[in-house]
Amino acid sequence: MDRPRFVIDSAEAEEMAEQLGQTVLQLLRSLVKSAQILARPPISKFHVGAIGMGSSGRIFFGVNLEFPGLPLNQSVHAEQFLIANLSLNAEPCLKYLAVSAAPCGHCRQFLQELRGAPDVKILITSSEDEKENEMNNFNDKDQEFTPLSHFLPHRFGPDDLLHKDVPLLLEPHRNGFSFCDDLRNGKINGGDDVKHAALEAANMSHAPYSGCPSGVALLDVEGKIYKGSYMESAAYNPSLPPAQAALVAYVASSGGEGYERIVGAVLMEKEDAIIKQEHTSRLLLQCISPKCEFKVFHCTKN
Ligand SMILES: [Zn+2]
Repeated sequence: MDRPRFVIDSAEAEEMAEQLGQTVLQLLRSLVKSAQILARPPISKFHVGAIGMGSSGRIFFGVNLEFPGLPLNQSVHAEQFLIANLSLNAEPCLKYLAVSAAPCGHCRQFLQELRGAPDVKILITSSEDEKENEMNNFNDKDQEFTPLSHFLPHRFGPDDLLHKDVPLLLEPHRNGFSFCDDLRNGKINGGDDVKHAALEAANMSHAPYSGCPSGVALLDVEGKIYKGSYMESAAYNPSLPPAQAALVAYVASSGGEGYERIVGAVLMEKEDAIIKQEHTSRLLLQCISPKCEFKVFHCTKN
């Protein structure tokens, strides 16, 4: 069986839409159900699928992840998964989002980190909400898509806290961190590549509020590496931790594989950081893959 895919390139998206006699925007709606099937919500059993289209015309999948044995706030919502997936694939801008259920307040806030957030067009595909979409149809040519500003008026976001030149979430940037001289925890299996991947993830992290970027790299039984960057929210709580971001990469690449195949993990975070990911990252990984060897390294500004 083919592995489920979490990214569709623009040419293929156009071809798929044509075969179905749809526009690409209609295709986004059509794909939501196939994203829902890929969700992993063992606690709520509530499968959420989010399909996004970026400025490149590529289509991205997002699904919700839940982790029995951990607090609910360790969960990943489908919209956050989607944004992490865009980030992994260097997509700089989200234009359209079709999602199976109305985005929760947490996700409406998380999306504020994007440049032009109020203009991201959203379509809710659950039947009741479709009626609301029709009632709030702001723009005929975008079909029933409604701007995010409708779902979250009076926004609080990066504009309130950051200088306008600071790169926002998904915008290319490098944080300029390198290894500390003291690599105090030694190596893990296949260690150097994993450490470098974690450093790379930390350098791509969006942490303009705390100034404490971080990244996690996971290693599976086959030696494949999956990396995820910490993504901060201006409102703090909706931030996506680096271990969760790395799990997004794992789920998006490995499809239906279980977390127990993750055998190694490296967290890279800033030395003497005012916020630390170490303890919660360790808890998460121990819970979902008890045999995973978890290491922490620190980085410093060049
Ligand atoms: Zn949400």
